[in-house]
Amino acid sequence: MRLRSGVFAASCLLVEALGVALFLRGFFPVPVRSLPRREARGDPPAEPAPPGPGMRSNWTKIPPPLFKKVVIVLIDALRDDFVFGSKGKQFMPYTTQVVEKGTSYSFIAEAKPPTVTMPRIKALMTGSIPGFIDVIVNLNSPALLDDNLIWQAKAAGKRIIFYGDDTWVKLFPKHFVEYDGTTSFFVSDFTEVDNNVTRHLDRVLKREDWDLLILHYLGLDHIGHMTGPNSPLVGPKLHEMDNILKKIHISLLSKEEASLPNLLVVCGDHGMSETGSHGGSSEGEVHTPLLFISSAFEKRSGPLTQPELVQQTDLASTLAVGLGLPISRNSVGNLILPVVGGKTMREQLRFVHLNGFQLSRLLQQNTPAYEKDPGYEHFKKAEKSHGNWIKLYLEGNNSEILLNLGKKVLKQYLEALKTLSSSLSKQVAQYDMYSMMVGTVIIMELRLPERKLGILHDLCAAYSKAKVLLLLLLSVPKALSSQAEFEVPLSPPLFSLLFYLMCLMLCAVHVIVCTSAESLCYFCSMSWLTAAGVMMLISALMCGILSAIAKIFENSRLPLKNPVVSSSSRSEIDVLILAGTIGHVLSLGASSFIEEEHQTWYFLINTLCLVLCQELCRNNFLLKECDPQCGTTVKQNVDSIGEASECKNIDIPAAGSSKLGKASSSADFIKGSDKWISLASPWIILICCRLLRSLNQTGVQWAHRPDFGHWLTSSEHKPELSFLAAVSLLMIFFLVQRRCSLVSKIAMALGLLGVYSYRAAIGNVIFPWQHDSKDISKGITEARFVYVFVLGIVFTGTKDLLKSQVISTDSSVKSTGLWEVYSGLVLLAALLFRPHNLPVLVFCLLIQTMMTKYIWRPLKSDAAQITIMHYWFGQAFFYFQGNSNGIATVDVSAGFVGLESYVEIPAIFLTAFATYAGPLLWAIHLLCYLSSEVSRNSAAVGHGCFCYALMRSIPVAIYIVLVTGLRYHLFIWSVFSPKLLYEGVHVFITAAICLFFTAMDQSYSQKVQDRK
Ligand SMILES: [Zn+2]
Ligand SMILES: [Zn+2]
Repeated sequence: MRLRSGVFAASCLLVEALGVALFLRGFFPVPVRSLPRREARGDPPAEPAPPGPGMRSNWTKIPPPLFKKVVIVLIDALRDDFVFGSKGKQFMPYTTQVVEKGTSYSFIAEAKPPTVTMPRIKALMTGSIPGFIDVIVNLNSPALLDDNLIWQAKAAGKRIIFYGDDTWVKLFPKHFVEYDGTTSFFVSDFTEVDNNVTRHLDRVLKREDWDLLILHYLGLDHIGHMTGPNSPLVGPKLHEMDNILKKIHISLLSKEEASLPNLLVVCGDHGMSETGSHGGSSEGEVHTPLLFISSAFEKRSGPLTQPELVQQTDLASTLAVGLGLPISRNSVGNLILPVVGGKTMREQLRFVHLNGFQLSRLLQQNTPAYEKDPGYEHFKKAEKSHGNWIKLYLEGNNSEILLNLGKKVLKQYLEALKTLSSSLSKQVAQYDMYSMMVGTVIIMELRLPERKLGILHDLCAAYSKAKVLLLLLLSVPKALSSQAEFEVPLSPPLFSLLFYLMCLMLCAVHVIVCTSAESLCYFCSMSWLTAAGVMMLISALMCGILSAIAKIFENSRLPLKNPVVSSSSRSEIDVLILAGTIGHVLSLGASSFIEEEHQTWYFLINTLCLVLCQELCRNNFLLKECDPQCGTTVKQNVDSIGEASECKNIDIPAAGSSKLGKASSSADFIKGSDKWISLASPWIILICCRLLRSLNQTGVQWAHRPDFGHWLTSSEHKPELSFLAAVSLLMIFFLVQRRCSLVSKIAMALGLLGVYSYRAAIGNVIFPWQHDSKDISKGITEARFVYVFVLGIVFTGTKDLLKSQVISTDSSVKSTGLWEVYSGLVLLAALLFRPHNLPVLVFCLLIQTMMTKYIWRPLKSDAAQITIMHYWFGQAFFYFQGNSNGIATVDVSAGFVGLESYVEIPAIFLTAFATYAGPLLWAIHLLCYLSSEVSRNSAAVGHGCFCYALMRSIPVAIYIVLVTGLRYHLFIWSVFSPKLLYEGVHVFITAAICLFFTAMDQSYSQKVQDRK
């Protein structure tokens, strides 16, 4: 079977996208979820029925609350040793006294990474472990959508008051009867944030009209971020917190009536590391204190021994029981038993039964084979003995035996709870290694043939550049030299046997893995047919590799290798490209290189500019000044071009190649003025890059530095921003219009006008005659106006493309069509980019124009080099736009342009387009350029597509292996996972681009064959 290299690359990328998808599914398991809330909630379970007829428990409702008022004091970044360690003794005397001698229970609550505030608040209030995927899914809706304690409390008519970090207000927008949110944005503010909370305290504590008071203090976290956990500022802050706790505790005690006691809960959302930051999984970051203080508890005696370790998620179920509410459905937490320890045995059993019932239902909804789960079995057993106990109890038996029996049942329950919640949290916290392995295998297998093909490509590129080896070239077998085509090794009969064997083996492995004890993986839960399909794909790829290797050995016997010549013909550009690619791939193994990846790309393109400059100098001066040699060099050039065309497509007739040779040799002698522009252009590009770089600070380390973008977006610089945006839009028009047809020129102009009026409508920029922005609308009409023109231009382009494909007209129609599609995308990007980013678009077009006109054409770089340069610039522009490898820099607002409300599919499309606009525009420009060069090298598009696919898939393949190795790294959540997502999405986009490439390439090959 023969495939063109473009088709081959595109299909490889498609299969790779499948592999990446499978890997991502394994790497980011879907969190445990119960059915949507709308569906019947189900009544709370009754007490287990005693066996035998006639007897029935009358406890069928949720038990009544145990506490009247509950105050939760959340101190951000409160580490366990701040309370239980020497710091606590020194700075929190009151709390220490309560912990050691008062009526309290203290625990160390373990937080799961990522230890950042928002997921931790969610964990505290829902009892579930928010997975990384939640961060992505909830990017657009900050309100918490899971069943949680605050909802339940509100539904039960509790009045909730909140003061503190406004994350809470975003999570629970309509749930507090009174609130005052403070922003955690100003990290350098240590006092004001906390005074904003405390100033309400005296007033609220006097009042009686609330049931639940939540206070979230941020000062300690800010101190940690700025100065670390050992700074002298920590002590006074802890002392301040101690005084607040004392005030609340005394006030709660004084309010207590005979009916019900009050409860004070003190906790932290996460701790802090030794440097004062948080987010990772070091002990200091995950261990936070958790105190329950209430007069309902027994008085403690003597100093505290090491507090017991509980999970942070346990608080939700414990508070639900304490407040007499149903436990949140997605909670994986356990009831902290000592808190209800003062109650009767029957009540205690009732609480743990409710908790166990909720956990086992969650397990049922998430695991197909839940009945085999040991936790579930334990729970069923405990439920049975609970029934027996109830029978004895209802019979009036009230002896010591009953109490001991009850203790035994309680113990059974607790064991069941523990097993249940650990197997539930395993689903979220553990990697699905099997799916990951399968995904990796698919991706790696693809790499092998591509690498092989890469070697072939290098070889042939070397040949095409070698200036002497005409004779040798004649002997190159057709299969190798016409390298736009690639023999896909399939179907030899020997391999069909191997294929079946391989399939059988993989299926056996599949059965063994999936029937073994831990059958939690996604790949096993897929249908057998799909799994078998994947197995067959893997085996087919494997066989392909084997036969390809066999072929290489066969080929290597042919006497056509001349490494000396090929290495000598490598220019500096090739060396740089190779070194740069390898260097970048290696840098992906280090977290700080990923955080600051933009620096790598900026460095690479700057170096590229310098090398290009050197190349241009050599081309312009050396070739011209040495006149006697000049003739021969040019002649050699002509020869080499002839060889190149011969190597790349032997079908081109000799006459054509000589004509081409003449044309390009005359292009060598550029006219005087052009020569100087050509020499200056690398420097101009360098200056552009420097300007772009100061537009958006990105990354992590220096992201807070002031940049030009922030200066522009601040409200007092609106006139400057408006001027810049207007100039940018004008420039875009002039740079784009030169190759468009008249209709699209007009459409483009109107569209860009629409972009400006859209930005004016939503208040980003102002018109010169407009002095203050009066009414700010959503700009729906203006944005849709622009969309119409985008669609119009793209449609005109597509029409031209189709026309050139059906009726074979000259290639100018086709290149106009392509350019129009490109300009349509530019217009869309101009609409979606924030106004201060419009210069990015201008410089993008400017650099592309200069590169095409003054660098690539004169240098006659080959398709592979140009592709890689395009890829590099595309990557650099990704960061010039202000993107980074963190999730926070995704500009979600792009998804709302021209939409009334959040509509999922267009929003995702628009956001993805706006984020990857840089790489995308460079890729489409590459296609435009290569297909305009097609007269010089008919296989250019195929090569380009192939190289582009290769450039994209090598880093992904290596990165996936790296991430698998680093999956327990401290920064896996904060650095490596977001990068993995970015890479994954990029692969999908690249696959789409390559399909487009292939479609373009196909029509050309058709035409070339027609001409023949
Ligand atoms: Zn926090
Ligand atoms: Zn913090």
